[in-house]
Amino acid sequence: MLMPTPSEEYQFVLDALQKHHTWFRECIPLIASENIPSPAVREALTTDFGNRYAEGWPGERVYAGCRFIDQVEFKCIELMKRLFDADFVDVRPISGVVANLVVYTAFTEPGDVMMALSIPCGGHITMGKKELGGTAGAVHGLVVEYLPLDYKELNIDVDKAKQRIEKLAAEGKPPKLVMFGASVFPFPHPVKELADTIHAVGGTVGYDAAHVAGLIAGKCFQDPLREGADVVSLSTHKTFFGPQHGGVLSWEKYADKIKRATFPGMVSNHHLHAVAGVAIAAAELLEFGREYARQVVRNAKALAQALYERGFNVLAEHKGFTESHVILIDITKYGDGGTIEETLEKANIIINRNLLPWDIKEGRHFQHPGGIRLGVSEITRLGMKESEMAEIAEFIKRVVIDKESPEKVAADVAEFRKDYQKVHYCFENATEAYQYIKIR
Ligand SMILES: *Cc1c(COP(=O)(O)O)cnc(C)c1O
Repeated sequence: MLMPTPSEEYQFVLDALQKHHTWFRECIPLIASENIPSPAVREALTTDFGNRYAEGWPGERVYAGCRFIDQVEFKCIELMKRLFDADFVDVRPISGVVANLVVYTAFTEPGDVMMALSIPCGGHITMGKKELGGTAGAVHGLVVEYLPLDYKELNIDVDKAKQRIEKLAAEGKPPKLVMFGASVFPFPHPVKELADTIHAVGGTVGYDAAHVAGLIAGKCFQDPLREGADVVSLSTHKTFFGPQHGGVLSWEKYADKIKRATFPGMVSNHHLHAVAGVAIAAAELLEFGREYARQVVRNAKALAQALYERGFNVLAEHKGFTESHVILIDITKYGDGGTIEETLEKANIIINRNLLPWDIKEGRHFQHPGGIRLGVSEITRLGMKESEMAEIAEFIKRVVIDKESPEKVAADVAEFRKDYQKVHYCFENATEAYQYIKIR
């Protein structure tokens, strides 16, 4: 067989990009960690900023050519400070993972104890133990102890957490850092309730807002900095609807160590096109964030309710399923999370399988867990409201419960999607959300 020519390979990649765009116009995107940025953010991502270096702090760069880059980065910092009412902001971490590494570097030493939720309980791989290859353990050498989760409440158990923190301190292993926040984050964490206990043993209160940053910005979730958090890490592309990037929020007294941890510690180039995109998204959130965040939470509750009424075991029904963008479903009645994820994808419904807190104990693992996780940030950005949530629940039911052919449902999903092609909660939307933009 003849090898394809470089030109054919080149065309293959471009074709795949275009096919992805065409496909996503016809899908219902329900991945809780994803969103769609505005056309202005996408425009920023195509600019020459993405080809430049600007090591250091704006105004004190190690490179020339940063005249406008500095203006944009200062503006980004200023807007993020306003949005989060934060004393100090570093917008250089290039992702949420890097932001967490900045936090670990600034506030801990290898060998220190850190507490966070385990992965089945909603914790993120960045909070994982060394044995599991998690960032905290394997990269920064932290000894990870788990925060206890109340399975029924889907939240950290305050009394047990206090006991565990005090026990660790009594054993001479006080947690130097306690990271709140999670990847399954339906309810605000008890930061206020635990901050004094953590500070009393000499610990730092960290808060990973990767998932909920957009809801915090929209004043629809807890406000960690006012509840006792010393430092907050975030992603700028989950509920915060910017480009894929990260950031750290904190107080002026910690500015120097956070700056140093970021550079020279964690970044050299810091994706300047994305910094511009974050600044644009921050301006959009200042203008539209409250309305957007309120609709996100309403949609999440509406989707949960509609699925529950159709027979799905949506968790935490007794407390309204969720106070954020995400819902967690025990899917074991109908199969395993992995298989359901695959079948729904054939119906153009994009969700992800997820471990339930008790899965490991029941012998289930990540490939075929007992749960699925659904998030509504992206469909909210596409202009969907409560009534569309009922339609989406019906599509999911047809595939999962009625076992209708996913291909048949896919056609109906594509038809349904036709009315939702623009990005909402932004200043200008001349192009469609998933429009393929050719600039060759
Ligand atoms: C997604 C996520 C991150 C990391 O985000 P990236 O921006 O993808 O690096 C960190 N923490 C939590 C809790 C997350 O869910």
